[in-house]
Amino acid sequence: MSWNHCPKHKEIIEWKGQVECPVCQLQADIENLKEFARYIIKVECWSIYDQDGGDIQELAEKLGLIKKHIATEADVNPDVDDFEVGDTIYKFSDVLEGGK
Ligand SMILES: [Zn+2]
Repeated sequence: MSWNHCPKHKEIIEWKGQVECPVCQLQADIENLKEFARYIIKVECWSIYDQDGGDIQELAEKLGLIKKHIATEADVNPDVDDFEVGDTIYKFSDVLEGGK
């Protein structure tokens, strides 16, 4: 065999050089996005309490939707940002890449 097979997706996956089965990875991404969407709707729309953005950021990091990043010149817009080069900030992870 020149590729590995995921036990769950062996009939549909040709799995070249990837550590994770891409179908399993997509399913995990979808589950994480669903959990996040449920949380946002629950706390932002259905809760009477004001929410702390820190809780949402913490959940997003736990679910792998954002990741820590050391700010570079390219990240900093001094007109709007309150961080500097070298500060630890968050960026979207691959699963959310493509957005702004
Ligand atoms: Zn799989």
